[in-house]
Amino acid sequence: MTRPHVVIVGAGFGGLTAARALAHAPVEVTLVDRRNHHLFQPLLYQVATAGLSPADIAAPIRAILRGQRNVRVVLDEVTGVDRTARRVMLACGAPLRFDRLIIATGARHSYFGRDDWAVHAPGIKTIDDATAVRRKVLLALERAETETDPARRQSLLTFAVIGGGPTGVEMAGAIAELARRSVSRDFRTITPHCSRVLLIEAGPRLLPAFPPSLAERAKASIEELGVTVHVGMPVTGIAADHVELGRQAIPTHTVIWAAGVQASPAARWLGVPADRMGRVTVEPDLTITGCPDIQVIGDTAALTGADGRPLPGIAPVAKQQGRHAARMITTGQSRPFRYRDYGKLATIGRHRAVIEFGRLRLSGTLAWLLWCTAHIFFLAGFRNRLLVGANWLWNYVSFERGARLITGEPTPNMETKHGPHEPA
Ligand SMILES: Cc1cc2nc3c(=O)[nH]c(=O)nc-3n(C[C@H](O)[C@H](O)[C@H](O)COP(=O)(O)OP(=O)(O)OC[C@H]3O[C@@H](n4cnc5c(N)ncnc54)[C@H](O)[C@@H]3O)c2cc1C
Repeated sequence: MTRPHVVIVGAGFGGLTAARALAHAPVEVTLVDRRNHHLFQPLLYQVATAGLSPADIAAPIRAILRGQRNVRVVLDEVTGVDRTARRVMLACGAPLRFDRLIIATGARHSYFGRDDWAVHAPGIKTIDDATAVRRKVLLALERAETETDPARRQSLLTFAVIGGGPTGVEMAGAIAELARRSVSRDFRTITPHCSRVLLIEAGPRLLPAFPPSLAERAKASIEELGVTVHVGMPVTGIAADHVELGRQAIPTHTVIWAAGVQASPAARWLGVPADRMGRVTVEPDLTITGCPDIQVIGDTAALTGADGRPLPGIAPVAKQQGRHAARMITTGQSRPFRYRDYGKLATIGRHRAVIEFGRLRLSGTLAWLLWCTAHIFFLAGFRNRLLVGANWLWNYVSFERGARLITGEPTPNMETKHGPHEPA
């Protein structure tokens, strides 16, 4: 008798956890991803700010699942799902027939209807995004080093991060350290105090998912690093050379988007309702209405938690849902998903963080050490853990940012009036 075929789309936190949890199940698993690597997104900001190299935070999916005999990995892009014929459509390969389907295709940035901002304010979701942001930041510093016009130089040395959630706070802190401490030793005209880093949040405070007292501490810590925090200030415009806050235009050549997310188009593939962020509204057991063989998990799924609030788009939710989806397949029983919240973490610069574990609230260096331990522990691959641990230790003692490589073509809006390759 042939074993049931489980197709999992997406090898991020949710999909990979589901595949691993099916290791001893009597099923054949096909894991499809459009990328050949699993990415540890929580450390992308370190790639974007030259603290880590891309390979430190990503691992080939095939290598991760090398020892799992019942999994086949397919590198391809899913373009649709035929629910009736139980087939997943691929951009290159032949459609895949499934008995059970788990969709874990994550999310992308959302510019709240202003997609024209994307070209000037890249976000970080993938390795390519992070290296593009790294290029933008490092090029701005290079151009500033030789710029003679003071206004343009100040604009090149102004970095604006939009979005005051954990990613925005982490990005702003890391840019401040890069621009104010790490590079000032290697440049002749950039001193620690000539760069400006702005963190702009439309809501009334930073880190809205954290308790107000921790958010206040995070704000104080990030301001100590030299970041100027603007809260309650929605961005009203973004162009190549400035960002607008209401009527105020702030000259800058580097804007980074860390504000909104939009789920993958899974709701469209399945022809089912989605919430305002495009996430598939799932049943309590993560299946879609009327289709017990299809589950949607992670950032692509919208589900309300026990507290009546939507579950957040974070890695622990995706992983627990991946495990839950696999358990339903192995046991053949439907059960409602219950999220266990083990806490929230966000880091601010090289030795501070804020942590909420139930009633325990921590900030400062101890919180940072816990943050480092947790992130190293959850990284895929022993080599990556070793490299990241060693890198952080080195960065900590030396303020070095060893991955300061400008790759790809220079971005056009960084060009000086003399052109990109001529001396100013
Ligand atoms: C910069 C950043 C920082 C973050 N920091 C934290 C943090 O500190 N703590 C935390 O808990 N969470 C953090 N998150 C959120 C966390 O990374 C996500 O919640 C988590 O990755 C969601 O897991 P997922 O499996 O749903 O999707 P992902 O992990 O995003 O995986 C989706 C996978 O699907 C693949 N895919 C997408 N579309 C297709 C398609 N059409 N065909 C084939 N494959 C496809 C993608 O290539 C990807 O591999 C962060 C996210 C970002 C972007």
